[in-house]
Amino acid sequence: MRRILWFRRDLRVEDNPLLSLEGEVLPIFIFDTNILEKLSANDRRIGFIFNALIRLKTALQERGLDLAIFYGKPIDVFTLLLKQESFHEVCASGDYDSYARKRDRDVSLLLPFNYLNDTYIFKPDELLKNNGTPYLVFTPFYNRAKTLFRPEHMAESLPAKQTRIDFDCSVIHSIDRNKHTILPITLEAIGFFPQPLSEHQTLSPEEKLARFEDKLENYQRDRDFMALNATSWLGIDLRFGTISIRALLRWLMVQKQKGVDSEPFFRQLIFREFYAMLLYHFPHLEWKNFRYPFRGIENHEFYEAFCTGNTGIPIIDAGIRQLLESGEMHNRVRMICASFFTKNLLLPWQWGERFFAEHLMDYDAASNILSWQWCAGTGIDPQPYFRIFNPYIQSAKFDKNGLYTKTYLPEVRDIPTKFLSDEKSLINYPIQGYSHPIVNHKSSSTRALDYFKSELSKC
Ligand SMILES: Cc1cc2nc3c(=O)[nH]c(=O)nc-3n(C[C@H](O)[C@H](O)[C@H](O)COP(=O)(O)OP(=O)(O)OC[C@H]3O[C@@H](n4cnc5c(N)ncnc54)[C@H](O)[C@@H]3O)c2cc1C
Repeated sequence: MRRILWFRRDLRVEDNPLLSLEGEVLPIFIFDTNILEKLSANDRRIGFIFNALIRLKTALQERGLDLAIFYGKPIDVFTLLLKQESFHEVCASGDYDSYARKRDRDVSLLLPFNYLNDTYIFKPDELLKNNGTPYLVFTPFYNRAKTLFRPEHMAESLPAKQTRIDFDCSVIHSIDRNKHTILPITLEAIGFFPQPLSEHQTLSPEEKLARFEDKLENYQRDRDFMALNATSWLGIDLRFGTISIRALLRWLMVQKQKGVDSEPFFRQLIFREFYAMLLYHFPHLEWKNFRYPFRGIENHEFYEAFCTGNTGIPIIDAGIRQLLESGEMHNRVRMICASFFTKNLLLPWQWGERFFAEHLMDYDAASNILSWQWCAGTGIDPQPYFRIFNPYIQSAKFDKNGLYTKTYLPEVRDIPTKFLSDEKSLINYPIQGYSHPIVNHKSSSTRALDYFKSELSKC
């Protein structure tokens, strides 16, 4: 067999099913211009991917293989490859958003496509209700996941004997329809500039796990407190496959055998599965509400204030500043911000989703879209639209000492911490250089509820 091994969301050699297929292989990675042309030249994610590719290339070379890197549209790359060589199939692991599925369908018309299961624990059709339909509610999905989970779901993919198909891997092959040019293997050659990456964007997944080991026991208790650094920081590694989900499960199993309560963390991994499964079965959720018809109200002034971290509500602005500064944002803050965006500001969730998609280092279509729909109350969660987070209460509860807020929002560093979660004080005592709250929590919540009720009454 002669195979193209197409690396996408699995940028590693360890426990990679692509490397467990015996025969002649050409490992490739494509910098897809359909995606890249929408990104800014300073996009940090491309730097992260580039670094991961260099590590992958080196690891493949150590196994007697190499990585051919392309820059162009996948369909043009495959057309060129098939003109130059003959292959029996292309192998790649799952990617479920609508663009990825169409891309793979198009490629499969040129060459048989062997889809491998790597990105998620379960295959998209593996975890269905007894009547064969997808679960719509998380808890039954989770219970079913626990029942169906077997050692095979975390079995390591062992490397097979593979021989390298001769191809020039010393350059980036830039393909534009029929035009083939050669570029050096640098980030600048494909139009991006190296950006400073945070510690969590440069640590290896193994280093992250070593640091997380002591925190796992108290994950459930601590994970919502933004200043505690109590989570794994593996989002970006799971997104780009610099860690295998099965390796993570095996690690978790070892912790469990040591007597550590690993279930709360496993539950979050199942959330990731749930969202991927939903997007796979209901691709229209990328832009359409799950159940309820409301759309929000377009207000560019509110949107601008939110996206620049100038709403005057400290916990929201700190979250957005963290995102803009590093591409990272704590899960609880993502929830508070998305609730504020869709309820207090009544903006369309699709706008917020797109804004996060532009900036999050761990951006994942399924998790982002479905989380935004959850926060917007569009019906993805059995709790309907009337759940509205109070950002001040959230701030007092989860950032009691103001450590998180003050880290990312220099304007409030010198004010008494209790002011950060006290709307009245923020309104009555303006802070120099910092905005006034753009909405009042109570009245904006009432406005949202009235709006949702009136929209629902129209159906
Ligand atoms: C509005 C909003 C947008 C989000 N967008 C994304 C996104 O684009 N990409 C993304 O991976 N996660 C997203 N999440 C989920 C969650 O915020 C991140 O997965 C988490 O913050 C990543 O940090 P961590 O790796 O330290 O997580 P940990 O708490 O250590 O969790 C381990 C892993 O479990 C998965 N996970 C944890 N919580 C969730 C969750 N609520 N939903 C789905 N998977 C979860 C992630 O893969 C995560 O890396 C979003 C949440 C919200 C509320």
